[in-house]
Amino acid sequence: MAYDTNNIFARILRGEIPCKKVYEDEFSLAFHDINPQAPTHVLVIPKGEYVSMADFTAEAPAELVAGFFRAVGKVAEELELVEPGYRILANAGTNAHQEVPHLHIHIFGGKPLGPMLVR
Ligand code: 5GP
Repeated sequence: MAYDTNNIFARILRGEIPCKKVYEDEFSLAFHDINPQAPTHVLVIPKGEYVSMADFTAEAPAELVAGFFRAVGKVAEELELVEPGYRILANAGTNAHQEVPHLHIHIFGGKPLGPMLVR
């Protein structure tokens, strides 16, 4: 799938649309989800044009892959989610209902999260 440079997260990265920023470094941006599904619901996105995890891990430079995953860990630390526990999730493609075609990892926390998948 070709990357759509006007997807909503590309526009957030360019500063065209505001976000409630949680963390930023040279590799990544993290911000609160506009429609939270848990008391804490943060999205972490890489700085680069990647549609999905498959696209990112195949195409991104190793430094960016490492920096992005380190950012996910740092955000969980900074939000004090490590001890109580949290969940990360990345939807990809139609079966997973991926809405925004820019790789993002959801971080959920702040309460017991229940079963992994709704059946
Ligand atoms: P997906 O279904 O693609 O994994 O999740 C996309 C997520 O992006 C959804 O949880 C949705 O609430 C969130 N989202 C969509 N548009 C915006 C936006 O403009 N700002 C923020 N902060 N989150 C958004």
